[in-house]
Amino acid sequence: MGVSGTGKTSLGKHLSQLTSWPFYDADDFHSEANKSKMKSGDALNDLDRLPWLNLLSLKIEEWSKQGETILACSALKEGYRKILSKHYNSICWVVLNGSFELIQSRLKNRKNHYFSPLLLKSQLDTLELPLYGIKININQAIEVLSADLLKKINTMSSSGIGIIGLGVMGQGIALNFVEKGIITSVYNRSVPGEDKIVSDFVNSNNALKNLKGFSDLAEFIKSLQQPRKIWLMIKSGFAVDSLIKELLPLLNKGDVIVDGGNSHYKDTQRRVLEAEKRKIHYVGCGVSGGEAGARYGASIMFGGSPQAYDILKPLLNNIAAIDRSKNPCQGNMGTDGAGHFVKMIHNGIEYAEMQLLAETFSILKNQMVYSEIASLFEEWNKGSLGNYLLQITAEIFKKKEGEHYLLDLILDSAQSKGTGAWSSSTALALGQVNTMMSSAVFARNISSLKTQRLSLSERKPIPGKSMPFNISKLKEAYRFARIINHIQGFNLIEAASKKYNWNYKPSEIARVWTQGCIIRSSLMEELKNSFTSENSLLKNSKLLDSLSKSEPDIADFIHYSIDQKIALDSYSSAYNYWIALCTENLPANLIQAQRDFFGAHTYQRVDKPLDQFFHTQW
Ligand code: NDP
Repeated sequence: MGVSGTGKTSLGKHLSQLTSWPFYDADDFHSEANKSKMKSGDALNDLDRLPWLNLLSLKIEEWSKQGETILACSALKEGYRKILSKHYNSICWVVLNGSFELIQSRLKNRKNHYFSPLLLKSQLDTLELPLYGIKININQAIEVLSADLLKKINTMSSSGIGIIGLGVMGQGIALNFVEKGIITSVYNRSVPGEDKIVSDFVNSNNALKNLKGFSDLAEFIKSLQQPRKIWLMIKSGFAVDSLIKELLPLLNKGDVIVDGGNSHYKDTQRRVLEAEKRKIHYVGCGVSGGEAGARYGASIMFGGSPQAYDILKPLLNNIAAIDRSKNPCQGNMGTDGAGHFVKMIHNGIEYAEMQLLAETFSILKNQMVYSEIASLFEEWNKGSLGNYLLQITAEIFKKKEGEHYLLDLILDSAQSKGTGAWSSSTALALGQVNTMMSSAVFARNISSLKTQRLSLSERKPIPGKSMPFNISKLKEAYRFARIINHIQGFNLIEAASKKYNWNYKPSEIARVWTQGCIIRSSLMEELKNSFTSENSLLKNSKLLDSLSKSEPDIADFIHYSIDQKIALDSYSSAYNYWIALCTENLPANLIQAQRDFFGAHTYQRVDKPLDQFFHTQW
């Protein structure tokens, strides 16, 4: 780019000869009307240029798919460059510049060219020099300029991001970045028997440009643009610590390590402090959406310094899902462990949402066949109860393997990877209530006691006479329990945000969770809107009214399950939480009396100021 007369076309053609990269001249794409306007000495205005720029942006996208391409284009204004890069944002800008006299003399020497030298001044006045790109002073021979430029382009073509860990998630994230035009380096450790992970991945995707594979960590680091952005997508825990140990000596001040895995937020807080000692940014980024989210658009919960967020935000925007207002589903949850904390609670909510559906199934399977359950869930999914887990559960009920429903062939022993248990222990540590998530974790644990359950199964009491449960009441019970689950989840994040000075913005959290993630739902859309006026769901009168209205239905549902001898861990937890929360006088006075009796722990009195504590010689 540069004004007319800077030699864009000559340099472009020369570079094209050196590299065999195809060359195009943007002037060739002008309309006849534009060409004759320029010939007559009139300057083009922005309106004249718009269709031309839009056409070029489409051409750039087309050319980018075929590899490196050289385009000579004046691209004088930032706005023009934005349009040019709107379909392909990895353009390497080369800015040609020189003195007015030199450019003018070149223009005067031109033959058979429609550009009038009189327009030079107007072009120079219009020129908005970019801060980015490769700057070339044109006062040298074209051979020297080409060689210098080629050297600089090779350096510039280093990767915008490096992904470590080519498991399910790492592969998806890498391909997502590559597809957005971001040069991406990938690395995976080489373990005996699995030393071809990187080459297999790169080879199987060799149709995609911009993907570079490395099996040597130092070479991988060298391939990255500075400040380097290194995205870990590996197993959490020890693996992350040992990798950081390997990485730190290879990094420079200002580089950014992003842990995109499900690390514990306290580990992230510790790692942030350790990296800070070397002036390296450490970011804990929660990623939700599973394999498909990683590949096509995830919900991303950033946690780290504001400086690191500024560096990463454009990259996150590229790989995030898009919400209903067309904004990327990524957000800054706060400093250090905030992103991983919010992701942990996301998973906790997910545990309870899954358990509620499993408990609903345990009732429905006695009164409906699978295809009917699938239809019912599909029906619910169309309305305000719609959510991703409900949608996939309907699909699951339809899946057959030969004569059998696949579901009937799956062992009823649920496993977990730990984020649900972490959410529960965190709630305990913070003195908060998350009976829903905990009940779901315990329900999985009970399910895994298959041998004990088998041996005790003959002791199961005989259920009452089986009468189908009213479906509209069930629907209301499901609505009730889901609301309680979300109340508990958001309350937990609020409590942690207070403790760790994270900037609690529930509306933003809900927004980030509206698309891409596993707990995306119509309810989340509602919560996103309601949080704009009130930070606590327990002050949301519409939601509270809805709970009061559904209470008799969930009460009937729990009665029914007791009669039918069906365990409803999560539904019962939701109900008990609500009833306790709405009870003015709980029996906790007795607990206080007991504590004081055996341990002299003291108690407060209803007839005395609350800052006074009493002990009795019982
Ligand atoms: P995979 O099991 O598919 O992949 C794990 C990756 O970690 C592999 O590349 C593996 O390398 C690497 N790894 C394991 N141990 C070490 C080690 N000691 N040193 C270096 N690398 C190691 O996991 P996922 O891709 O599913 O998950 C990656 C992370 O993302 C995890 O933290 C997970 O909790 C999180 N996550 C997963 C989601 C999902 O839906 N799967 C969703 C959101 C987050 P190798 O191949 O050599 O063993």
